Amino acid sequence: MSSSVALRLPSIDGLLRHPACAPLAERYGRDSLLTGLRQLLDELRPGVLSGQLAAVEIGAEVLAGRVGERLAQQQRSQVRRVFNLTGTVLHTNLGRALLPEEAIEAVQMAARYPLNLEFDLSSGKRGDRDDLIEGLIRELTGAEAVTVVNNNAAAVLLTLNSLGARKEGIISRGELIEIGGAFRIPDIMARAGVRLQEVGTTNRTHARDYEAAIGPRSGLIMRVHASNYSIEGFTARVATAELAELAHAHGLPLLEDLGSGSLLDLTRWGLPAEPTVRQALLDGADIVTFSGDKLLGGPQAGLIVGRKELIAKIKKNPLKRALRVDKLTLAALEAVLGLYRDPDRLAERLPSLRLLTRPQAEIFAQAARLQPLLADVLGEVWQVSAVEALGMIGSGSQPVARLPSAALCCRPQVSKRWRGRYLLNLEAALRGLPIPVLGRIGDDALWLDLRQLDDEPGWLAQLPQLQVDR
Ligand SMILES: *Cc1c(COP(=O)(O)O)cnc(C)c1O
Repeated sequence: MSSSVALRLPSIDGLLRHPACAPLAERYGRDSLLTGLRQLLDELRPGVLSGQLAAVEIGAEVLAGRVGERLAQQQRSQVRRVFNLTGTVLHTNLGRALLPEEAIEAVQMAARYPLNLEFDLSSGKRGDRDDLIEGLIRELTGAEAVTVVNNNAAAVLLTLNSLGARKEGIISRGELIEIGGAFRIPDIMARAGVRLQEVGTTNRTHARDYEAAIGPRSGLIMRVHASNYSIEGFTARVATAELAELAHAHGLPLLEDLGSGSLLDLTRWGLPAEPTVRQALLDGADIVTFSGDKLLGGPQAGLIVGRKELIAKIKKNPLKRALRVDKLTLAALEAVLGLYRDPDRLAERLPSLRLLTRPQAEIFAQAARLQPLLADVLGEVWQVSAVEALGMIGSGSQPVARLPSAALCCRPQVSKRWRGRYLLNLEAALRGLPIPVLGRIGDDALWLDLRQLDDEPGWLAQLPQLQVDR
């Protein structure tokens, strides 16, 4: 497009004085507005010089509108709430466990006021942050002593480095696992300075395999919960009690990384059995490590429990200072652990357990209730049905066990060659809602597992905004 009159961009000063910009300065601050305007004008300048932009595209009102949108976008938090309808309850990418109200209140208190993080209120002397939760964890696990770090990966690293540096760590080949996010037992061992001494085979490891590997350079025996996979068929694994006996006969500590590590027997709520921390200690493990935000249902943390002199050694490791937990975590953890004192009411009060134990019939009734509403919004191209579905606990708890659940199943009624595109468009539209809705695509359908749909009114309120591209 050529024009005889050269277009000129408005000046920054002129724009700042323009009535359309004044409210933006008020709302976002003059500096942010200035930066936004400069960026926008820089982007538009080539188009103006080459004559590709029309006068209406660079009017002050238009520019103010565009800058306003950008500033609003920038101001919106990057940390966003979502609806997790993936069917995986403890979803690592979606923040794992949800905290109970008691923990949320404790976090607020710790965020708002000074607190006795490392101060002993009875003696008036310096304290140790682990002391705040040690009594509770000892009571709930039967451990002699306790220390807490940033997550279970840190717990494993710190324990290995404290007890096995420059020595050999003996572990079964069936337990050399990789957990998401590049956490691999052999790599962590190497970084901890422990020489890996693998024994047995992937499917079968016997006591004699461990015994044959024990020598003058041995520092510890380690056992790792397989977490995210399962070995079935012709398998053999040495019981913790037998392994502990063997380790102790040779003066070695037995470490057990339980991963999720439940504090209570989950079968009492009809969930698949997970080894408990108390049982691992009773069986003779000297140190047990586990996560705070998996089955425990608390904040991200790594709990290290076990024999007093070993915990003391772990706490003296300078790495402990680098891996320690902050006050918000400790506050939340104490509140969550407190709920475990009353197991009878735990499933009502701890969100992760409440969600994990929601009866399928209740979830199905919810699906049946929501089905016509979603069908209405999606229109005729989509067949929406309330169906039974299978979810997962997630976070390496029971990789093969499935939770009987119910879902809204959305199938595009189009020819096979278009189905994939329709599904991706629906998935993107749900993800684009003010509170993004995350489901999963499989079997030529999009599934919204409703086990975790607590805030049904909030979910329904934004449905009218759903706009699916064709
Ligand atoms: C999940 C898991 C870890 C890592 O725990 P994080 O708390 O995520 O750091 C380590 N070991 C096992 C066996 C696990 O299942």
